Amino acid sequence: MNGLAGQTALVTGVGSGIGRASALRFAEEGANVVVADIDVEGGRETVDLIENAGGDATFVEVDVSDTASVERMVDATVETYGSLDFAHNNAGILTDFVETTGISEANWDRIVEVNLKGIWACMKAELPAMERTGGGAVVNTASEAGLVGMGGLSSYSASKHGVVGLTKSVALEYAERDIRINAIAPGPTKTNIQSGIVGDSGGTSILGRIRSVVGTVRMALRTLRADFDTSAMRDVPMGRIADPEEMAGAVAFLCSTDASFVTGTTIPVDGGQAAD
Ligand code: NAD
Repeated sequence: MNGLAGQTALVTGVGSGIGRASALRFAEEGANVVVADIDVEGGRETVDLIENAGGDATFVEVDVSDTASVERMVDATVETYGSLDFAHNNAGILTDFVETTGISEANWDRIVEVNLKGIWACMKAELPAMERTGGGAVVNTASEAGLVGMGGLSSYSASKHGVVGLTKSVALEYAERDIRINAIAPGPTKTNIQSGIVGDSGGTSILGRIRSVVGTVRMALRTLRADFDTSAMRDVPMGRIADPEEMAGAVAFLCSTDASFVTGTTIPVDGGQAAD
């Protein structure tokens, strides 16, 4: 990919899944990578994977919902490598499957704080650092759920629609300042996201609880089953779910000079789901 070698990339949510694949891809392209996660063990494993492949990476612990923690992450990046050129704001969590009336305030707040406020907090700290060292590119991880509604996942879907709107708006603010800001909208991807689910009570009714449990199990099966003979697979026009590396390819493209006139857009990486 043009323009990534010798630059510095910061990736959040690297303990597994899409963020790990993105960090590995940046390193493969010759970038120095700061890998940040709330999960220290997973983040350090990603550093080991990058170093074993001959790349250069540094782990920073972060909670993206905490602005002070995010500021420390960006400061550490610039202190370690002297600049911040690319940021992939990717950390995110999934809620369990529950209708809107059954969502607790605590879970609503946590989903929005991590998935939406977290992206804002990252850009708030990253953009001045990028501007100081000559510009750069940001990629935010939205979701297919940020492009279409998803019954049973309204808080997650709302947070991801927010990421799409935030990406467009901030891109306009920085369009003349050498910083391009885009997003990817992954379709179903083989990752660990099910294990970090923010559970909810399903409301106070027994029926709500049963619906919640059934929906969560259904989603877990959709994501985890390797043979994937389920509705999730049938929902994807290309007939399969994605590997995280396929998301990393889109991120690398959006950061590269091949995407030099692309800003404010969200690219669906979803096997055709958004077209359906
Ligand atoms: P994952 O669980 O494998 O990775 C998410 C990472 O984010 C984990 O390492 C986790 O520790 C980290 N994280 C969670 N909360 C954090 C916080 N507060 N601060 C810092 N790090 C935190 O899941 P994934 O599927 O790779 O998810 C990455 C992104 O992709 C998320 O934003 C998710 O919403 C999005 N996404 C995933 C899918 C999918 O099917 N897997 C589809 C669409 C969008």
